[in-house]
Amino acid sequence: MFNKVVSRLASLSKTLTVVESSCGGLISASLMSVPGSSRVYRGGTVAYDTKRAKKLLLDDDELHARLIKPVVISDDNDDEVSAYVNSKKHWSGEAAKAYCAKVGTDYAVAEAGATGPTFRPEGLETGFSVISVADRNGLVAQRVVRSTHNDRERNMRLFADAAATLLSIAIDGRLDRATKSRDDRAQLEAWEREGSFVVVKGNKMLASEDDGGLARLAAAPPNGTKTFLGLVDDKPYFSVDVDDAFSGKFVDTRTRAPLLPALDATLAIQATALATWQRRSAWCASCGGPTDLVSAGTRRECRNCGAVVFPRQDPSIIVVVESRCGCYALLGRSPRHPPLVHTALAGFVEAGETFEDAVSREVEEETGVVVDAGSVAYLGSQPWPFPQSVMVAFSATADHTQPLQVDPAELEAARWFDRDAVREAARVTDAAVMDPKVADSIRHQHPDLRCIIPPQGPSENLLFYVQIENYELTVTTRQRPG
Ligand SMILES: [Zn+2]
Repeated sequence: MFNKVVSRLASLSKTLTVVESSCGGLISASLMSVPGSSRVYRGGTVAYDTKRAKKLLLDDDELHARLIKPVVISDDNDDEVSAYVNSKKHWSGEAAKAYCAKVGTDYAVAEAGATGPTFRPEGLETGFSVISVADRNGLVAQRVVRSTHNDRERNMRLFADAAATLLSIAIDGRLDRATKSRDDRAQLEAWEREGSFVVVKGNKMLASEDDGGLARLAAAPPNGTKTFLGLVDDKPYFSVDVDDAFSGKFVDTRTRAPLLPALDATLAIQATALATWQRRSAWCASCGGPTDLVSAGTRRECRNCGAVVFPRQDPSIIVVVESRCGCYALLGRSPRHPPLVHTALAGFVEAGETFEDAVSREVEEETGVVVDAGSVAYLGSQPWPFPQSVMVAFSATADHTQPLQVDPAELEAARWFDRDAVREAARVTDAAVMDPKVADSIRHQHPDLRCIIPPQGPSENLLFYVQIENYELTVTTRQRPG
């Protein structure tokens, strides 16, 4: 994965510093093994307490003193493990920012953790790492990565891959929807001449012929509905929803987008959401009159009664219910999904209902399990425009000894899986498991798996299907610079 990052950095003439706390340079080693990396690499492996770290910080005594002293973050509710993890988060975040600023590189990656087997803090028996990435404006992304084993080589690769993923988010940037420009016709026309175009056909996206990623065209295809998506580093992006006359390699956005780089996933999802809504809202819901697209494709207006219609998103809840001991997670199997695929429970929020009540109701309706009062906690959200949902993610706890009563209209089965089963399943990454052929091949490659769960994919700013590794929903959002 570092190959891609290194070539992206080199092509942009950007530089990178790598800082590591004490684990022997795993990310530096990965980076340096890539041809051409000397053009982007300007860091060094340093340990908390070495003099060399002070040199790299240009002999800034105060900064050096601050970074070599481990900060223990703890409150009464924290056990030792979370205090340890939090202290690593703190250090790697601060170190990434400080080294990026001091060394003067465009990006810095800091890593803190344990690859095992030599170093095993109590309660963290297998490899774990916190990766932080900063740019010149501050912290861009941070992620806690947990491994299921203590194989040093494999863990080094795992952590380096995670660092490469976070770096690509920092490099590619994020989409600014530029909502205030949607009615500025002159500006939009100028942007169209220099823009990039993402092509969708309803809920399918045009894939590039070479690598199967999201195609970006330099000119808009004729005869399509054009929509302004926004700016990425001042470069304008549009989507065009084409009809069947336009041929090309179209793939299902729902299964493909989760596997795309973060920015491409965002573009594909936004384009799909708008195309689907535009196709479904041609007629006014108030008077039945025809509507026109306005504001660069992001609103409709009724020709007859003047009603303004905005794209809608229907809220759905998705929840991982844990046993009170934290050892089991309740997952369901939909008859629509390939064999062995299990997911967190989900359902639509009803009219006039709170999200919390929807969580309790859906879990009980689908599995018969009553969740603990007051245990429903918000975790994050993600757009899910298939056709027009937004997934709102929660955790909850329940007594796992109560009887399961699965509603056959909703689920084929529901089961409490132990941590090992979910962890093993989570090791299968970057695969479109909802595709029956892909699921079939996973079952053959990993005959011991007790369940298959949807992948997190490399899209750090989207929470596709909700990742349930270690029963912690991984919610990572890119922080706005500055
Ligand atoms: Zn109307």
